[in-house]
Amino acid sequence: MAPPTGAALIARALHELGVKVIFGLVGIPVVQIAEEAIALGIRFIAFRNEQAASYAATAYGYLTGRPGVCLVVGGPGVLHAMAGIGNSNANAFPLLLLAGSSETHMVTKGAFQEMDAISLLTPHTKIAIRSSLDSIPQSLTNAYRMAWYGRGGPSFVDLPADVIQGEGEEIMAHVVPAPPRAASDPEKIRAIAKLLKSAKAPLVVVGKGAAYAQAEVAIGKLIHQTKIPFLPTPMGKGVLPDSHLSNTATARSAALKGADVVLVLGARLNWILHFGESPKWNEAAKIIQVDISAEELGKNNGDAELGVIGDINIVTNQLTEALGNWQYNTSSPFVKSLKASAAKNEAKAAKTAKVDKSPMTYARTFDVIKETIDKLSPPEDGGVVYVSEGANTMDISRSAFPVEYPRLRLDAGTYATMGVGLGYAVAAHCAYNLPSPEAASGPTTGHKKVVCLEGDSAFGFSLAEVETMARYGMDILVFVINNGGVYHGDSDDSDAWLKLQNNTIEGRTQGGLRSSSLGWEVGYEQLAWMCGGKGFLVRTPEELAKATEEGFKASVPVVVNVIIEAGQAQKLEFAWQNNSKKTKKDA
Ligand code: ADP
Repeated sequence: MAPPTGAALIARALHELGVKVIFGLVGIPVVQIAEEAIALGIRFIAFRNEQAASYAATAYGYLTGRPGVCLVVGGPGVLHAMAGIGNSNANAFPLLLLAGSSETHMVTKGAFQEMDAISLLTPHTKIAIRSSLDSIPQSLTNAYRMAWYGRGGPSFVDLPADVIQGEGEEIMAHVVPAPPRAASDPEKIRAIAKLLKSAKAPLVVVGKGAAYAQAEVAIGKLIHQTKIPFLPTPMGKGVLPDSHLSNTATARSAALKGADVVLVLGARLNWILHFGESPKWNEAAKIIQVDISAEELGKNNGDAELGVIGDINIVTNQLTEALGNWQYNTSSPFVKSLKASAAKNEAKAAKTAKVDKSPMTYARTFDVIKETIDKLSPPEDGGVVYVSEGANTMDISRSAFPVEYPRLRLDAGTYATMGVGLGYAVAAHCAYNLPSPEAASGPTTGHKKVVCLEGDSAFGFSLAEVETMARYGMDILVFVINNGGVYHGDSDDSDAWLKLQNNTIEGRTQGGLRSSSLGWEVGYEQLAWMCGGKGFLVRTPEELAKATEEGFKASVPVVVNVIIEAGQAQKLEFAWQNNSKKTKKDA
């Protein structure tokens, strides 16, 4: 029998590591690795662009709690997949990127797709190495382990063509056990428990690190036992049910402003949490941050002395035990203020959601989608995964779609990256729906429907991936919230839009379309038809409800193109507007 090729050895090592899905885009010679992997029963999900494939692998890592694997060609393939490396770093999602490269003896000759990927990626990865034929299992195992252990992040293995195509000797890869989990110093836990007990306005912030750590049982027990109010971050939503009585999400500002002792579980004090600083936070708040990464503690307004290094599951259990049967008095002024604020905000949102206008508003659009989906699959079933991106689409939909279980909501994340949505949707479909699903959330063990809420600009970054969904028979439901622009469109009126395009609008003499303009009522729904899916163009709540129901029940990808009000929500302050204001004021 001929000795195995490098490609076969790489595929076998991945198989030994327990890899079930590879996301990527092949070319010569990495196609051989993909084919060997498929022959071993690993699913290869082939994308139309490495960027989307690399994003998908990061989301798969987050959802499954193990590194997502991405395979690309060298040179340009690596450059495109850099997006996933950045995304993995920023979000602390584990990713193993594998890429081909030119033959080792060709280095510096200007070979096919030659690029020094190791130098490029070393500063951005936990490990970036080149494998030889002999070191395949060792290189892959270590890179996989390093992406996974400690804070999740990216690893890279460069696979030269002569390694992929050479013939080697079978060496078994080592099994990599789940990362060891650290507990905290019991004395520190006692001190923190004492501080929490002394708080007049305690708060627990639940971040996406808690969702990644699958700490829902431990955190649920802590909140149930102590009755401390909690606030989820955008992707921490669902670790505890949104419907939970202690959830302060609809009183977010009041919670941050009023809390005097805050326990942060798996979230960083970055822009998402206003850096833990006043005026959004109470200046005197004591912040206890629990994180797997020591480097995170003491950043911005976090008090390093109160910081706890350890695994959220273990540390939370330690704290729950140390707090004993102590319970926070929920008739406190803090809780009263939270309830008042929540009632006010919820009433306002409920009123806005029912305002009928033509074209529809964001709020009305999300209300119709939610009501229709809830009838088909109630949130308590945990049968829907929401993916959301686009500045306004993501912000406004966040509170419109409650989730009851962890890891059922993905968004643009720490980097606020637009363009992740379709890759994330494919990843979620794979994590939850392939035979032997790797992710778990909620009571629904069967199929989960992936619903994508995409701003029209965000959708444009990777719209070719609708074909990927169709090719693999993924029944993903995509809504394109179409206001014809980045942030907002120019006009609800096609004549006015044409004037802009033709540079003939009054008061604006040159320059044509604004930088934030997109095409007038682009027919995004036709993309789905083009590749064997279904598409609908809708303008009214009735049309939207019908398309949502049909789309939800479909077994192919569906794109619902929802034309909404162009000038809604966040407006960009354009330079020409600012200048004119300034001139007036200055004058
Ligand atoms: P969010 O976007 O929800 O605010 P971040 O991504 O900023 O959340 O923060 C997540 C944090 O969770 C990171 O600092 C990461 O190190 C931490 N983390 C991830 N897994 C664990 C774990 N098992 N135990 C403790 N901390 C963890």
